[in-house]
Amino acid sequence: MTIVNAPQLSFEFFPPKNTVQERRFWRSFGALELLCPSFVSVTWGALGVDAEPSMKLLESLTKDTSVPVVAHLACSGMNISSASAVLDKLSALGVTRLLALRGDAPKNTGDTSALRHATDLVQLAAAHGDFEISVAGYPEVHPESSNSLEDMHWLRRKAELGASKVVTQFFFDTDNFLRWRDEVAAQAPGLTVIPGILPIEDIDKVTRFAAVCGSHVPNDLVTRFTALKDASDRSSLAVEVAAKMCDRMQSEAVEQFHIYTLNRSTLPVRIASALGVTSALDPLAA
Ligand code: FAD
Repeated sequence: MTIVNAPQLSFEFFPPKNTVQERRFWRSFGALELLCPSFVSVTWGALGVDAEPSMKLLESLTKDTSVPVVAHLACSGMNISSASAVLDKLSALGVTRLLALRGDAPKNTGDTSALRHATDLVQLAAAHGDFEISVAGYPEVHPESSNSLEDMHWLRRKAELGASKVVTQFFFDTDNFLRWRDEVAAQAPGLTVIPGILPIEDIDKVTRFAAVCGSHVPNDLVTRFTALKDASDRSSLAVEVAAKMCDRMQSEAVEQFHIYTLNRSTLPVRIASALGVTSALDPLAA
């Protein structure tokens, strides 16, 4: 009999923009914090539009909680000097883990010190010295790449420049992910791969979002969700789908999963429970 240990989970949050969102964030964070996540990550607005709320949230999390925090940083629209200033600020807050990203494609402003790709930011953050650096990965290929070889080339380059982890775009084809994981291991050994799992709150929204991200939503998944009229049945299906994907990956030695929470905790908590990850307050937990 194979005994599979509970996996390590991490959770992505976005910075709340008003008091209602703020209340929801802290409720969700409180529920998910009890699952002892390996880290929580905070997104960064494209072109820095959410810089202030991200910084504020990062400050609260580093000061008021003991959960390890990963700051997303999207470098599009920044140059060496402005990005260095942000890295200094993050260091001053006590943030030591970075998800180095590009964000939206930058406009050409003629600034020769502009950061045009995540590779530029990885290089800058590595030279800065204070950060464990993660980057984004695309098992189904980034929409701007002409093929998977091009994508893999730049992922390998990010590892050479100092990245040690890759968190993936969400996907539903686990076999394709596992092939991609093996290719990463061959091309960039030492890069820890953490699959990104998106719980399906709303299949229509997920389908629209997937089209932008280059992720494929299988037709049978859409059919199964749309056939269910009851919201609680759709939630149960969402838990079943995510848990089944994670089980399959765990059977292939994947030990960490990054859950895109959209600042909600109900589905992530249920998925965690299905995977054997229980609350630190659960009297039956070991
Ligand atoms: P890049 O690595 O720059 O890649 C973009 C394209 O350029 C790819 O086709 C790549 O193959 C190619 N490329 C890479 N380097 C080079 C190079 N040096 N020269 C030429 N081509 C190159 N966006 C946000 O705005 N905020 C967030 O908080 C955020 N969080 C995310 C978290 C995760 C886990 C993921 C997967 C994505 C996230 N994104 C976020 C979205 C991300 O910014 C977009 O996917 C963006 O289009 C690409 O970002 P990147 O870091 O992969 O860019």
